[in-house]
Amino acid sequence: MEPDASGKIMTVLGPVGPEAFDRVLMHEHLHCDFFDAASGLPVWEEKPSAGRRDYLMAHAMPLLRECREKHGMTAYLDVTMPPWRGWPELYTEVSRASGVHIVMSTGFYREMELGYDWVDRPERQIWPFVRESPEEALADMCIGELRSGIHGTGVRAGAIKLGASQAPLTAAELKCFRAGARAQIATGALLTTHCTALGGESSQLAVLDAMGVDLNRVCIGHVAQHMTDPAHLKTLLAWMRRGASFQPTNLNASQPQFYRPLAEAIHRVFDAGLGDRLVVSLDHGYGGTGKGFAPADYLPPPPFLYFFREVLPALREWGLSEPELDAMLRLNPRRLLALP
Ligand SMILES: [Zn+2]
Repeated sequence: MEPDASGKIMTVLGPVGPEAFDRVLMHEHLHCDFFDAASGLPVWEEKPSAGRRDYLMAHAMPLLRECREKHGMTAYLDVTMPPWRGWPELYTEVSRASGVHIVMSTGFYREMELGYDWVDRPERQIWPFVRESPEEALADMCIGELRSGIHGTGVRAGAIKLGASQAPLTAAELKCFRAGARAQIATGALLTTHCTALGGESSQLAVLDAMGVDLNRVCIGHVAQHMTDPAHLKTLLAWMRRGASFQPTNLNASQPQFYRPLAEAIHRVFDAGLGDRLVVSLDHGYGGTGKGFAPADYLPPPPFLYFFREVLPALREWGLSEPELDAMLRLNPRRLLALP
């Protein structure tokens, strides 16, 4: 059964009209379990875990509920892709209990650098399924999760997440981007990316553009650094004029030396008339660490809520107006997440 979702946003509880969405964070991770500290092995398979469910219902769910009740966050886009996501029922249960709509992602993570954390040999750089499968099989997996559901549960993904490390994509990353592009064209879903290297945005967008993806359905992520580099901001503005959206993440209110210039760059994008091409998020959440499954430690606590408690007031103090914040947090996410 595939209920008609055109014009709607595909949440873990089914299609929802965009008018039900108030503030939305567009890049968070309820569950990103990439490494099992107990066995010392990377996680290459998704399966139900009662332990994770109990932990996240106790720790993460109340934070999401407070984001909704106190700060009007009615939804967030969960950008963990397989095989590091939680089991689909985790998201439906957390969504029901917190009252927050959750949009899940399908797709593929980047090929990580050898020597990065637990990546001590080539077979740990990327999900073996990606290495072993042709482009068609990768596209079929994404399309199946977007159209029919994840692991036979009927819970459908509502977005595609892709990643690349450096500006020139590796062969495996290029295969993922081509597969993700096919899934985007087949379904219309938003395609959002991990893009930390300067220049990566142009490599990624060029591949998607050549595949025929409508750049209005693409959002390039982790671009705080790209935006605060004045020369690079010009490159981003040129892509925005062609339709692409961009998302700075990892905003840290205790580091105004980095993030006040970002607020100024955001303001410049609005001055250029391209403020409808920006969304914003934390990239916070819970995942595997050397100590086990825990809150991410690369941002101050608590996950999700930190954005509304600390970052949003800082963005106001640094000069962003209410209409600018409303565009990035409400209007633009509604448009990007709604299926054509
Ligand atoms: Zn992330």
